Amino acid sequence: MSFIETEEQKALRQAVAAMAANYGQDYYLEKARSGQHTTELWNEAGKLGFIGVNLPEEYGGGGAGMYELSMVMEEMSAAGSALLMMVVSPAINGTIISKFGTEEQKKRWIPGIADGSITMAFAITEPDAGSNSHRITTTARRDGSDWILKGQKTFISGIDQAQAVLVVGRTEDHKTGNLKPALFVIPTDTPGLNWTKIEMEIVSPESQFQVFLDDVRLPADALVGSEDAAIAQLFAGLNPERIMGAASAVGVGRFAINKAVDYVKTRQVWKVPIGSHQGLSHPLAQNHIEVELAKLMMQKAATLYDAGDDFGAAEAANMAKYAAGEASVRAVDQAVQSLGGNGLTKEYGIAAAVTASKLARIAPVSREMILNFVAQTSLGLPRSY
Ligand SMILES: Cc1cc2nc3c(=O)[nH]c(=O)nc-3n(C[C@H](O)[C@H](O)[C@H](O)COP(=O)(O)OP(=O)(O)OC[C@H]3O[C@@H](n4cnc5c(N)ncnc54)[C@H](O)[C@@H]3O)c2cc1C
Repeated sequence: MSFIETEEQKALRQAVAAMAANYGQDYYLEKARSGQHTTELWNEAGKLGFIGVNLPEEYGGGGAGMYELSMVMEEMSAAGSALLMMVVSPAINGTIISKFGTEEQKKRWIPGIADGSITMAFAITEPDAGSNSHRITTTARRDGSDWILKGQKTFISGIDQAQAVLVVGRTEDHKTGNLKPALFVIPTDTPGLNWTKIEMEIVSPESQFQVFLDDVRLPADALVGSEDAAIAQLFAGLNPERIMGAASAVGVGRFAINKAVDYVKTRQVWKVPIGSHQGLSHPLAQNHIEVELAKLMMQKAATLYDAGDDFGAAEAANMAKYAAGEASVRAVDQAVQSLGGNGLTKEYGIAAAVTASKLARIAPVSREMILNFVAQTSLGLPRSY
């Protein structure tokens, strides 16, 4: 791993930052508050090759890796436009299909995911399983060569704007016990697939939904990868998801710190700008250090993942997601404090980041489940559950 980004990587970072600056947080909040999607931003990012930068070139992607995709996520987020569907569509689904899909599945889905003309949601979470994915009960039974899926999912982001959803279920043969996931791509216009919106207190143009699979009939080729060995296939997508969760949080942290620094440099209530007071400058310096440290772990995770070290990437991706979540929550909190009353106004837009920053502690895997993973896997401690 080099600490120096290549000329290509630097150019990509600059190009994404320049595109995202043309939209910025005002655009993002305006769309969110009026119940619209960020279609223009999504389409432009797709057209410029940013969404599919990690996907194979032969299917229309950029042929780079998670390092580059996390860079795209970080820069968009740092500009105030952290798009959740970037975590889901190219990072989880694009990776799983391009690694384990059939030739037909790759040809059908990857070019569209890469250029943004297809958005694919991802559904693993279930109301009664929560963090314990081994308890999921969405079940696929065979009917001739077809599959019939039945179950319920919750907190599924962006299914309303997606053309398809990758659903994690289990086959009837593996209905109980430790999860042997079976992954299915379902076009969102398939009969029997329905959803209702969950009202969230997050200012976001992307919404969450309860999803109902009511005897959804699918052809044999809806199954992605093997129906048996899919835990490795699932994690091929979940490590990128954690890296992207970290990238989003690093971007939110940078965004908050920048806002606060700009403000405290000029705001003056005594003889000097308030940024001269160490009561404000030291916590912001601390926030900056924490965000930079989290970014370093995110870059390590992406580098390991791109090098094919899945085990090393899993530990680093979890640690990066944890560190970035904590750093961004603290940075946003300090940014609100630094702006005083303006920190809570709509005009300055920093209060809107408060609940959004908390998301990084909860999803895609909670702070506590990461601490469990590190305690057990890295430290060899016994589990409590
Ligand atoms: C905005 C948003 C978007 C999302 N998007 C998606 C999506 O697109 N697709 C999808 O599939 N899911 C999505 N999710 C779901 C998300 O992944 C889950 O919310 C998350 O995994 C936590 O599960 P839960 O909410 O059921 O919490 P629970 O599992 O009920 O946990 C509640 C609390 O208990 C703690 N806890 C649970 N078990 C333990 C333990 N053993 N030890 C210590 N503490 C424990 C947790 O850490 C947490 O603090 C989204 C969630 C949100 C909020």
